[in-house]
Amino acid sequence: MFVYLQHGISPFLVHKIMYCKICGNITEYFGKTTVLRKYTAVYQKCPKCGFVYTQNPYWLSESYENAIASTDIGTVSRAGTNSIQAKSIIELLFTPSAKFLDYGSGYGIFVRRMRDIGYDYLAYDRHCANLFLEQFTVSSIVNDSFELVTAYEVVEHLEEPLVFF
Ligand SMILES: [Zn+2]
Repeated sequence: MFVYLQHGISPFLVHKIMYCKICGNITEYFGKTTVLRKYTAVYQKCPKCGFVYTQNPYWLSESYENAIASTDIGTVSRAGTNSIQAKSIIELLFTPSAKFLDYGSGYGIFVRRMRDIGYDYLAYDRHCANLFLEQFTVSSIVNDSFELVTAYEVVEHLEEPLVFF
């Protein structure tokens, strides 16, 4: 097995060459942080496509016990920005009267905003309860179709993004 040292990482964190989960290119050390105040997470970045991911995220199930971190104070603001962008895209490229889905909708703030401005938007999230419009939450999307599916802040949480899509 080929190993290499990277950017002052402790010998205990030396690891093998990693390949991008999106394009297959060799990735580079990007940084490290402490997750859940106890686990060391080492991040890799693909110099070709820019995808950033962590190696073996063994802490995910514990992390998803709370789908949205209490320290994330930008949730409402981002939902507002995302709804403005989504409205523009829908009006330009899609049928505004059609049915839409937000995959990984979190608390449902984005979907609430989209419904408030007139779109038939539904929410789907396997890990988080929709607090703002429970009646517009779907529990399965297997046999359904939508004009557009949005997924904000979702891909970075997938262990194998290409398998998902
Ligand atoms: Zn890549």
